[in-house]
Amino acid sequence: MKLLEEKIKTDGVALNEHILKVDSFINHQIDPLLMQEMAKELAAHFKDRGITKIATIESSGIAPALLTSLAMEVPLLILKKQPSKILNQDLYQTVVTSFTKETNYELTLSKKYVSENDHVLIVDDFLANGEAATAAIRLIRMSHATIAGLGVLIEKSFQPGREKLESQGIEVYALARIGNMGENFISFI
Ligand code: 5GP
Repeated sequence: MKLLEEKIKTDGVALNEHILKVDSFINHQIDPLLMQEMAKELAAHFKDRGITKIATIESSGIAPALLTSLAMEVPLLILKKQPSKILNQDLYQTVVTSFTKETNYELTLSKKYVSENDHVLIVDDFLANGEAATAAIRLIRMSHATIAGLGVLIEKSFQPGREKLESQGIEVYALARIGNMGENFISFI
């Protein structure tokens, strides 16, 4: 998506070869018009697939996922991060390994909000190693719901997330795909 690539070029900050900061328009301050355009593009790509719900991981996925759910007129599920293990038979739970934060956390979803009749699109801000998306898929599949795919704003294609998901049969659609980057440059695929 040209609009997003232009914005990343002008306002994105590559901290190093691995981490891209987009705090001025996605992660800290949000550009609502750009966010709406990105959500419309995700909704258009995945339309007519029988999607019944959008799911995202709190908290940076909520803005794009909410606007995508609005465009598709389906509910949004927020997969919650829990700091410690809470045993609760009303919840599906799984552990995520976060490479960026070098910690493990528990991801939870209430059994009330998802069932085998659901076909779920996962939306997130970034795809990097694919750990968060893989955990989201594992969690949603516990209910026997099916996965329609993963829509992300920014894919860092030099990291293994896409391969990991595609090898599980998951379609990945990214609005901007970064081939490589460094302190003074960002190049797209
Ligand atoms: P994963 O490695 O599991 O694909 O990425 C998990 C999460 O880490 C993403 O949803 C995103 O919130 C965050 N993340 C990964 N790489 C970056 C990055 O380069 N910049 C920012 N702002 N967040 C990132």
